[in-house]
Amino acid sequence: MIHIEPVMKNSSSETLYRFSAYFDGKWQVLQDYSKDNSYNWQPTWDTNYTVKVDVKNENSKSDAEDSKQINYEIQNNLNIIEPKLDFVTNGPLVYTNVPKSIVLHHIQARFATVYDIHRWHMDRTWAGIGYHYYIRYDGSIYRGRPENAKGAHCPPANYSSIGIACEGDFMVEKSMTSAQKKSLIALGKYIKNKYNIHEVYGHKDLYSTDCPGRYFPLQEMKNTILR
Ligand SMILES: [Zn+2]
Repeated sequence: MIHIEPVMKNSSSETLYRFSAYFDGKWQVLQDYSKDNSYNWQPTWDTNYTVKVDVKNENSKSDAEDSKQINYEIQNNLNIIEPKLDFVTNGPLVYTNVPKSIVLHHIQARFATVYDIHRWHMDRTWAGIGYHYYIRYDGSIYRGRPENAKGAHCPPANYSSIGIACEGDFMVEKSMTSAQKKSLIALGKYIKNKYNIHEVYGHKDLYSTDCPGRYFPLQEMKNTILR
């Protein structure tokens, strides 16, 4: 949470304040002109933000009489749940992953816990859940494999990507919940910034599969994460 409260030398009861932030390539108004001289802002994801406060007199016809910008770098705004997963029995994991891209998946199933997926993948004799992250319908984000562990989600990219899977079967389900979408964007942006990634793929871009499903908002997620 960012508390923005400018200190004005010549403020009066007629002073109006407008709070904006620059992200996703444009200025976005957080709180339009009002007499409220402070604003508490909860950014959606980790990135660099420029925050701007414009002030003017309530009778002024100009867009702003004064304007101040401040840069904020937001880190660890994500809540990642750390499940206890056994990667030893069928392991060990191989720590040779160097992430250069993000690969998006659906699990092609409805209502599965991270433990369900872990068990399904162990049943295939893998070390455990093949993805690095799993996002449920409610937006909760679970860690699967550590980021530096070779994945088991997309053979051409297992040594060079972060695999993120979403709960659901998007060959059947026609839309993603907004909470799931929001978390995928936040996580994707965090990974992108962390590894300076320029490529986001759907599993089907790299392998013969329907994954992440025809109704998965793949292009929208690629554009938003990379923007
Ligand atoms: Zn997949």
